[in-house]
Formats: sequence, C-alpha cells, structure tokens
Amino acid sequence: MQAWVIGNWKQNPATSHDVNALLDDLCAAISTTKQMSHDNSARCQIMVAPSLIHLAAVNGRLKDTSILCAAQDVSGHSASVGAYTGECSAQQIVDAGATWTILGHSERRQYHQESNDALLQKMIHALSQDLGVVFCIGESQAQYDTKQTLKVIDNQLAVIKEFIAQQPELIEALPTRLIIAYEPVWAIGTGKVPTVAEVSATHKHIKRTLAGFADSLSNMTVLYGGSVNADNANSFAADPMIDGALVGGASLKADSFLTIATAFSQASI
Ligand code: PEP
Repeated sequence: MQAWVIGNWKQNPATSHDVNALLDDLCAAISTTKQMSHDNSARCQIMVAPSLIHLAAVNGRLKDTSILCAAQDVSGHSASVGAYTGECSAQQIVDAGATWTILGHSERRQYHQESNDALLQKMIHALSQDLGVVFCIGESQAQYDTKQTLKVIDNQLAVIKEFIAQQPELIEALPTRLIIAYEPVWAIGTGKVPTVAEVSATHKHIKRTLAGFADSLSNMTVLYGGSVNADNANSFAADPMIDGALVGGASLKADSFLTIATAFSQASI
C-alpha cells in the first residue's frame, strides 16, 4: 500500500517570501535525497496543505514535481459560487490547483465549532468536485483519559456513513479520494504521543468500521497525526496499520518533513 505523508502548514509561514524559502528547501532536499527518488516517491506520496492565500502559488511551484497540494478546508455552503463572504468553494480550490483538502481538523472543530452536519456538507461539496478529502478524527485528553477514544471516533466516522447514505453515486470515489487521519487532540503540537500499539489498535478499529460501511471501503488509508517528528517517525512507520502521517510543526522544516516521508517510504519496501 502506498504511504502518505502530508504537511499541514496551518496559518504558516508568515510571508510569501518564507513560503518560497520552504519550497526551495523542500525541492532541493527531494532532488538530493536518494530515498525520495522516483521509485520511492511512488511508495510514499508527499502532499502539503498551505494556507489558502498561498495555495495557487504553492501549486504553481509544485506542479512539475511529485508533491501534491491540498487546501485546509472548503466552504460548506456551496460547491461553486454564492454570497458567502469569507468562504472559498471546492470548485475554487480545484481551480487553484489543489487536488485534496483536509476536513475536520481538530482546530476547525474547536475554533469554528464544526459539527458532523457541517462536515458532511463540506465532504459532499469537496467530493462532488473530485477534491479528495483527508478527514481528521480524534479524541480530546479528557476523552482519552476516560477511555472513550473508540466511542468518539465512531461518532466522528458517522459522517462517512451518512455521506454514503446520501451520496451513493459517490461511493466509488471513496477508496481513492478519502483518507482518514487519526489525530488525538492531546497529541497535536504537544510533543506527547500515544504508543504505537495504541495507534495501531485504533487504526484497526477505524479500518474495520469503514469496511462495515461498504465492501469497497475494506482497504482504506489511515494516517496518524500528532507530534510526529524526525525522531519518532520510524516507529510509527514500522507498524503496518499506520499508512502514513499528517504532520504539523515538523512539516515547516524541509529536512524533518522529508525524514518523516523517507521513514514511511522505506517501511513500505
Ligand atoms: C496537526 O495539526 O495536524 C498536527 C499533527 O500537528 P503536529 O504535528 O504539530 O502535532
């Protein structure tokens, strides 16, 4: 199975100049990293999700490389156009060159109160425009402490079940256009990580749950996210249940990001 390593740049870098410097470093490092040669990049797909204001420019810089470009969110109001001040539609994101979007990141859930209903609309709009979806799920510290992880995840995955019920004609797209990113909220940006065994067991549950929704979802890609860095990537990559990583902080430095991608690329040999 091809691994995926996705950099979520969030509201970074500060300027276009800094974005270009990061891309310079990324492109230079990729061309000199033996492990990220053509064969290896086929084993690990790299993607970056810049801030919306930088999306078209980043895509322009990456269009002749193997690195894909994603948005961090899409409008839930309309897939194309409309009177929705401040929003950006799936169609506009595709037009800017992105082929994927992150949806349901815990920071969106926390700061924008994104509910299952809102995320369902966003997912419908994204996939109707053939924009792949990296759907983020994960429990809070309190939910982890009270052993509610699987219950929380089941509730979040209900969005996928409802999507299938409402959009049966789009089911066929899901195996290649949907990726789940399991991100315990308490591990994001904290330096705290669950054990590999815990992540592995949770991924097994996620995969089994998705397979229960439809036969075609029996081999879905599930990434781990939360304080993945150059030092711990190998341990996550070694577990066959972990198909890659969604990386925040460590994706803002080309060398740590590529070290993570290399770990997953080598693990899938
Ligand atoms: C994230 O925000 O998706 C993330 C995983 O962040 P970090 O790698 O910084 O924990």
